[in-house]
Amino acid sequence: MNCGDTIVVNGAGGFIGGHLVRDWRRRGYDHIRAVDAKPFSEWFQLFGDVDNRRLDLHEKAACYEALAGADYVFNLAADMGGMGFIENNKARCMLSVLINTHLLMAARDLGIRRYFFASSACVYAAEKQMSAEVSPLIESDAYPAMPEDGYGWEKLFGERMCLHFHEDFGLDTRIARYHNVYGPHGTFRGGREKAPAAICRKVIEAKLSGTHEIEVWGDGEQTRSFMFIDDCLYGTKLIMESDAGEPLNLGSSEVVTINQLVDIVEDIAGIKVRRRYNLDAPQGVRGRNSDNTLIQERLGWQPSISLEAGLEATYGWIWDQMAGDELRLRSSA
Ligand code: NAD
Repeated sequence: MNCGDTIVVNGAGGFIGGHLVRDWRRRGYDHIRAVDAKPFSEWFQLFGDVDNRRLDLHEKAACYEALAGADYVFNLAADMGGMGFIENNKARCMLSVLINTHLLMAARDLGIRRYFFASSACVYAAEKQMSAEVSPLIESDAYPAMPEDGYGWEKLFGERMCLHFHEDFGLDTRIARYHNVYGPHGTFRGGREKAPAAICRKVIEAKLSGTHEIEVWGDGEQTRSFMFIDDCLYGTKLIMESDAGEPLNLGSSEVVTINQLVDIVEDIAGIKVRRRYNLDAPQGVRGRNSDNTLIQERLGWQPSISLEAGLEATYGWIWDQMAGDELRLRSSA
């Protein structure tokens, strides 16, 4: 890839997409198109020197408009969120199949040089994730298929579409299976947030209100791994520039329980909170971790930023947003 190439980031108003635009700008690319369906006022990051477009990529014509004249395409657009959202919006999650399908057709017809699809660890078979003492998931564990209902099926189907567009039409495609990405400039309230941002928000609320109590979904002993956004961006770039056409895990292999995640956020916040466990809340699979043998083999690299360091940056950003809200409320009262 060269600085003069035209790059399109779809889903650029979202968390990872916004960071991806920032990252390619930083690398000196000056033909970047940023596409999202949301009003510009709701984009997490908006850059004045980028070709920003508001398009609904469910629509086929919008996908052709988004990709016209482009060289490299990233598809990060999807109607998604944390467990609370995907367990209650399965059809909406599956409708994102229209986005990937129409973008792939446009990429094929417009001669796009390479196409990147953001897949997910939710493609993995549920039966491999029944215990908190997880064996890390290797790429072949996605089959025989029994992914997360709704969202996971859409991602697995999307992966297969990419593979077959390559086989049948010669379109060069790359696929990353992201495992729980977190960091600043992402959703932390409203129902789509994921565990790291949700826990940071709840601890900050407990601190600001003085209640020192938070709700934890499940018994807190479910395990996960969490990847900081900077590792996600670097891995995405490496995968896009590599010759790895098969799906690759892109996730941290540092596994923690949700209770351990709360411990780390407590340390950063400098408070201890009482934990009220809500056993009826959506919890997802019991245990999940990323096996990084294949990405290490193919790219000679794997994510390495510690959860402590990543959460410190994330907590700081969410704190600034929430403390800013408090100040605004007080000054308008
Ligand atoms: P996000 O929700 O912050 O961003 C997705 C963006 O897509 C949103 O801004 C949304 O407005 C946009 N979008 C949705 N429907 C659209 C449409 N019809 N047309 C145009 N834009 C539309 O999510 P994110 O965390 O940045 O995730 C980016 C991608 O990575 C998604 O495909 C997601 O499934 C995948 N992923 C994310 C994670 C994670 O932990 N964040 C994990 C696995 C996979």
